[in-house]
Amino acid sequence: MLIDTHCHLDAAEFDEDRAEVIARAAQAGVEAIVIPSVARSNFDTVRELAHSFTGGFYALGIHPMYVPLAREDDLQVLRRSVEAAMDDPRFVAIGEIGLDFFIPSLTAPAMRARQEMFYAAQLDLALHYDLPVLLHVRRSQDVLLKHLRRRSRIGGMAHAFNGSFQQAGQFIEQGFALGLGGAMTFERALQIRRLAEHLPLEALALETDAPDIPPAWLGTPQFESRRNEPMQIPAIADVLAQLRGLPRATLDAATGANARRVLPRLGAALAA
Ligand code: ZN
Repeated sequence: MLIDTHCHLDAAEFDEDRAEVIARAAQAGVEAIVIPSVARSNFDTVRELAHSFTGGFYALGIHPMYVPLAREDDLQVLRRSVEAAMDDPRFVAIGEIGLDFFIPSLTAPAMRARQEMFYAAQLDLALHYDLPVLLHVRRSQDVLLKHLRRRSRIGGMAHAFNGSFQQAGQFIEQGFALGLGGAMTFERALQIRRLAEHLPLEALALETDAPDIPPAWLGTPQFESRRNEPMQIPAIADVLAQLRGLPRATLDAATGANARRVLPRLGAALAA
């Protein structure tokens, strides 16, 4: 089963033709799309959008890049929104949450601490409601892992993962699957391609992060010239199948099963 485990389908880049983007993804065989939220301001938007088409799912959380704009009170709003969503089969995770130690404005000591505070609070929320998380991982693998190890296993998706084999192994140990997408399609992305080739197949899932991270045939890492969209999932799956020397059917079945396993509510909804 082809699943886009991470797609910002509510982004303004899709305002002109969102219905066509969704239709193209379905036509390409993408059976489910998980839409993470990034801030209190889009909690309702992602929920409504996920409910607007077959195969739409959503997550609720405060993204590390939105922490500078977030108020502590937003965590209370998140808690209430999660509480209200627990009966909603389309709600599958806390996300997108995490830490970004790459963007200069986010790496000043006070802002790092604030990111960690929002991250830890949202992990506690995930633990409380027994929910998986969708993790934004950028130059922050070890600190993310430190907070995960302090809690009993939470699990979920490590989205757009890039790191060492050792770090990958530690996320897998914590119950995560690693999200692979456009970055893997660049021949010079040697480390990501090595991970894609050699990590256990049980640990991999597919994602686009659309409209961002366009695959090689749409743009380049320096000039993200073209908008990414979920219909790219089959072509991304082709690249991963080729890297691993597997038939597409095997790859599709495995990555689909992995996504459903680490996001149990998604698995349950798709089985229903
Ligand atoms: Zn994202």
